[in-house]
Amino acid sequence: EALYRINGWGDPYFSINAAGHVVVSPKGDRGGSLDLYELVEGLKQRNIHLPLAIRFSDILADRLERLNACFSQAITRYNYPSLYQGVFPVKCNQHRQLVEDLVHFGQPFQFGLEAGSKPELLIALALLKTPNSLLICNGYKDKEYIETAILARRLGKQTIIVLEQLEEVDLAIEAHQELGITPVVGVRAKLSAKGEGRWATSTGDGAKFGLTIPEIVHVIERLKSVNLLSSLQLLHFHVGSQISSISVIKDAIREASQIYVQLAKSGADMRYLDVGGGLGVDYDGSKTNFYASKNYNMQNYANDIVAEVKEACEQAKVKAPILVSESGRAIASHQSVLIFDVLGTSQVMTQGAVAAQSSDHLIIRNLWETYQLIQGDNYQECYHDAIQFKEEAISLFNFGYLSLSQRAKAEQIYWACCQKILEIIRDEEYVPDDLEALRMNMASIYYVNLSVFQSAPDSWAIDQLFPIMPLHRLDEQPTRQGTLADLTCDSDGKITQFIDLRDVKSLLELHPLKPGEPYYLGLFLGGAYQEIMGNFHNLFGDTNAVHIALTPKGYHIKQVVKGDTMGDVLSYVEYDREDLVESIRQQTESALEDGTISISESQRLLNSYKESLDRYTYLSVES
Ligand code: PLP
Repeated sequence: EALYRINGWGDPYFSINAAGHVVVSPKGDRGGSLDLYELVEGLKQRNIHLPLAIRFSDILADRLERLNACFSQAITRYNYPSLYQGVFPVKCNQHRQLVEDLVHFGQPFQFGLEAGSKPELLIALALLKTPNSLLICNGYKDKEYIETAILARRLGKQTIIVLEQLEEVDLAIEAHQELGITPVVGVRAKLSAKGEGRWATSTGDGAKFGLTIPEIVHVIERLKSVNLLSSLQLLHFHVGSQISSISVIKDAIREASQIYVQLAKSGADMRYLDVGGGLGVDYDGSKTNFYASKNYNMQNYANDIVAEVKEACEQAKVKAPILVSESGRAIASHQSVLIFDVLGTSQVMTQGAVAAQSSDHLIIRNLWETYQLIQGDNYQECYHDAIQFKEEAISLFNFGYLSLSQRAKAEQIYWACCQKILEIIRDEEYVPDDLEALRMNMASIYYVNLSVFQSAPDSWAIDQLFPIMPLHRLDEQPTRQGTLADLTCDSDGKITQFIDLRDVKSLLELHPLKPGEPYYLGLFLGGAYQEIMGNFHNLFGDTNAVHIALTPKGYHIKQVVKGDTMGDVLSYVEYDREDLVESIRQQTESALEDGTISISESQRLLNSYKESLDRYTYLSVES
């Protein structure tokens, strides 16, 4: 467990059982669990192949309940005189089944949705029917967007148009005048409180979205001039996603609370304070302010928001707002596990040392002597000696003084030295910098049936760390350390960053493959942003996905969403399957005329081509 820090990032959903398999407990500590390895085997028997995203709707429900419970506890603790009513930012994962589940699980909490674009607004309008839940309209808006949002109020939807650009206030006023429907609007403030990490520029003067304080004052004047100031009811801010440090949240909420009370005092009918997203996910389980972690929990987050807003409102004698948050990552990340298989491995030559003979060249005898000397107190010195002897051996070869077989022997002993040193340093807490390179050079490459670009794009684009580990054989000490290389013909298609327990450049602890046996790896916490931001590099398409619900007897497959076929991805880039097949048919006819193919070969080729169009874009692994 310690090797992958599963207790840190996985609790309470993921753990390891006595069989050495990863276990998922979709309802957290409320009981019921599934052996993930057996689940994958069961799905494969149903012809659902890897790579595969398994979505656990019970985890989604649990995340939502936890978030609401944290706010409810904070509200009780601080005697906060209003409510919490969150929304889910659809951008985080727009898949229909997920948004439907979310709306359903959110009903007891009047949980709403946030739309950041026109298509997301269309999703939210159609799916969100919970009375009184909020529909926050963010992002760039044109007249059409604003009109739709305002008209939807006639259906009883609580749409709130958040003004993020100055022009939007005029669009809202125009729409109001044309439609005769009073909108509810909010303003997104560009706070001066600093964000941090990758999304630090989501706030501050240079931020893409939001209004500066002078612009907010302008909005107030403009609304007042048309007698619409009472429409201004919400203040929104967003300091960036994955906030690792609680101090950033505290600073932002302090500033935003003051803006809120000032808006209330200026005559706006303020009712909601929307704290945006940013609630972090502990991807590496370290509970620190490292970018892939966070130094606070959900309860600390809720407490700080509630306490700060209460104090500011009490001091200013302003009615406390309904608190809204737009947590996406914290709600959607855990529910999806991506499972993929390993196709093969490559590793540096480690056939073991062959003893030098007296007839061998001196350089080989020196290398052999070095090999024999290596032990705990001299490995660093021996390492440098081995490098020097190997380089000398290559020079001797280049000048014609060493035969091919003698060079091979020198290299073999050199790699055996490296292997012997690696075994010594494997368990060392501290590894000298010069030996760090050795660890990396000796690492195995595990080739995986996956496209990083399609399934974990943030790992490629912004070096996002996701927990990755084998699903089974966890009762066996892993003896390999490696990196992962994906199926794409792109050298960026790899994962070389893993949870790092020793604070050194990281490698993943892996098991050697067993012939004829599959080796499954899981990428966890990837349920937010990854699926929709994935791209079709090399035309690897969407993976298969299944929605699983826990039942008293095991599990129920709620839905299977088949991944793209080759025909699907080709149609995305405008190829017509009939045209493609016809092209092959004509080529086989010409080849038949030329006598370079037999009839049976041509039929076999044509059939295989046609069948491929209906097959998965990933490799099929027999086991
Ligand atoms: N709200 C807004 C305006 C955002 O831009 C984002 C994403 O960055 C979110 C909410 C969701 O943030 P998170 O996933 O960190 O909760």
